[in-house]
Amino acid sequence: MLEAMATSATLTTSDHNRNAAGLKYIYPVISRRAGGLSIGVNFNVNNACNWRCLYCQVPGLQLGAPPAMDFQLLERELRLFLTDVLQGDFYDRFQFDQEHRVIKDIAISGNGEPTSLSDFDRAVELIGRIATELKVFPESHFVLISNGSLVHQAGVQAGLMTLKRYGGEVWFKFDSATEVGRKLINNTAQSLVRAKENLLLSARLCPTKIQTCLVDYCGQGLSAIERDAYVRFLAQLKPKTNIRKVMLYTLARPSCQPEAGQIKPLPVEVMTHLADAVRALGFDVSVSV
Ligand code: SF4
Repeated sequence: MLEAMATSATLTTSDHNRNAAGLKYIYPVISRRAGGLSIGVNFNVNNACNWRCLYCQVPGLQLGAPPAMDFQLLERELRLFLTDVLQGDFYDRFQFDQEHRVIKDIAISGNGEPTSLSDFDRAVELIGRIATELKVFPESHFVLISNGSLVHQAGVQAGLMTLKRYGGEVWFKFDSATEVGRKLINNTAQSLVRAKENLLLSARLCPTKIQTCLVDYCGQGLSAIERDAYVRFLAQLKPKTNIRKVMLYTLARPSCQPEAGQIKPLPVEVMTHLADAVRALGFDVSVSV
C-alpha cells in the first residue's frame, strides 16, 4: 500500500479517479466545488448502486449494494492517507498548487449509494473518530453524498446521527419532483412521497443540503412541467424543514451510462433562471456549471 501511495501523479479538478492513491477505500480529488483537497471514501468498491442515474460517472455500474466493509483496512488506509497528507509529501508528489494545499472535506461518496453498506453507522463512526483524533475535524467538513433512498432504515438513521455528532452534513440527491422524471433520470421506482419523507427525516437527524443534477435529455432541456414541479416541491418543503441550501449542478464529466450520447449539460441561463426561482423561496442556492 505504501508503494502504491508513493506513485507520483498530477490530479486535476476533473480527475475523480478512485484509484489515484492506489488504495481500496480512499481516493483524493482536487475539488472545484470545495477549492482544495477532498478526500473521498468509497464504500461501493464493487460499483454497485440501488439507482442508475442517466448521468452516473461510475464505470461498469451494476445494481446492488457494496460488499461487507473491511474495517481494519479502512482504518489503516485512512490513517496512512491522512498522515501522508498532514506530515508527508503528498501535496508535492501530486503537484498541488499552494492554494489547494488544504483538506476541505472528507466525503463519503463512492461508486454507488454509500448508505446501502451494512454497518454504515460503524463506518461513519470510524471515519469521524480517526479524522478527529488526527485533528482533521472539526476544521475540515465531513460530508455524506447520498441519494437518500434508504433514510427510512434504522441503520442509516443511526449513521446520520453519528455524522451529526462529528459535525457532518448530508448532501441529499433530489433531481426531479415528478414520478416520471425520477424514473427517467434516476431509474428509481421510489415514490416522490417516500423521497420527501426521507428528505425531511434526514434534515431532522443531521444538517442536510439538497443537491440537484439537471441535464438535457434528448434535447428536451428543462421542461416547464419539471421546472414548475421542482419549484412547487421546494415551496411546500420550506415551512416544514430547516433545510436552507440547494446546490444545482449540471453535467461536468461524461456519463458512463448507455444514454451518455443523449444527455448534455443544461445551458447556464436555464440553471440561473431556476436558481433565481428557488432563491425567491428563501433558499440559499449555488449553481455549478
Ligand atoms: S445515485 Fe449516484 S452512484 Fe448511484 S447511480 Fe446515481 S449518480 Fe450513480
